[in-house]
Amino acid sequence: MKTILLIFTGGTISMSYDKVVSKSVVHDNHDELLKKVAAKIENVNLESIIYSLVPSPSITPNDMLEIGKLIEKKFATKNISGVVITHGTDTLEETAYFLDLFLNEKKPVVLTGSMRNFDEVGYDGFSNLVSAILVALSPESNNRGVLVCLNDEINSAVEVMKTHTLALDTFKSLEFGPLGLVDEKTVIYYRDATYEKEHIKPTELDKRVEIIKVVSGEDGKIIDFYINEKVSGIIIESLGRGNVPKIMVPQIKKALKHNISVVITSRCPMGLVRDTYAYEGGGYHLKNLGVLSGGSLASEKARLKLMAILSLNLDPKDFFSYN
Ligand code: ASP
Repeated sequence: MKTILLIFTGGTISMSYDKVVSKSVVHDNHDELLKKVAAKIENVNLESIIYSLVPSPSITPNDMLEIGKLIEKKFATKNISGVVITHGTDTLEETAYFLDLFLNEKKPVVLTGSMRNFDEVGYDGFSNLVSAILVALSPESNNRGVLVCLNDEINSAVEVMKTHTLALDTFKSLEFGPLGLVDEKTVIYYRDATYEKEHIKPTELDKRVEIIKVVSGEDGKIIDFYINEKVSGIIIESLGRGNVPKIMVPQIKKALKHNISVVITSRCPMGLVRDTYAYEGGGYHLKNLGVLSGGSLASEKARLKLMAILSLNLDPKDFFSYN
């Protein structure tokens, strides 16, 4: 019989209504949930660990690192076929992406969560957890990197994002669609992920990286604060193809002079950052100043990747190139 390790971290999947204010709060529903899930899946041994019981805005990059180390240890010391992590949906894609970087594991690691709490009509935590376990049990899920499974859709950690504040089908790979789905009890894959696996394994995350979102008229004055705070990296979530207003350029130069790594991402949720424009503040101009490209990575994922690279004292140029 196969063993799947479940790691509970919290989030709406582990929430119910508070009796006084009738709003969602974390509540230990695990025994009940596990009993229901175990009755639906045959021939599986479910082991579980409660790593935390927190809403996911409280999950930190250090938690992600700890969860990565925990999974690595369990795979090395126990005969488990896969891991399922339950997580709040707000930062789920960040933890999934970090684990994808950190782990170099052939066996499946799947994240799931829910959009409705245990007390709500149509609680999706139960079906999402069952489907995620089925994904983790499927040999077809091997060598696919870390996966995210909600609403019966399987997405890659690198491609997926939360797109809707409420809808059950909130997790989407907007550009390429899901890798596959769970159809009743069958796990079906339609395609491979679009990226090459990167393996970056920090032992600690001790470098601070901040994100600046660019809007019209943005002057980048906030960079002075970050220089003062001694941050090691800045992700600039730029406009369109990877461009910033001209008035922001002197501030970017200042950051580079202070040895801060600057990586450009785009506020467009799809497409690559490229060096298409040569005007002041355009991608080509920024590239020549020494700014790096986040490619098609979302800003919050580029931040985690840069944190991991800088914490290992690796050169970000080797990981964020315009091409
Ligand atoms: N705010 C919640 C969290 O991320 C939402 C969820 O779990 O879906 O913990």
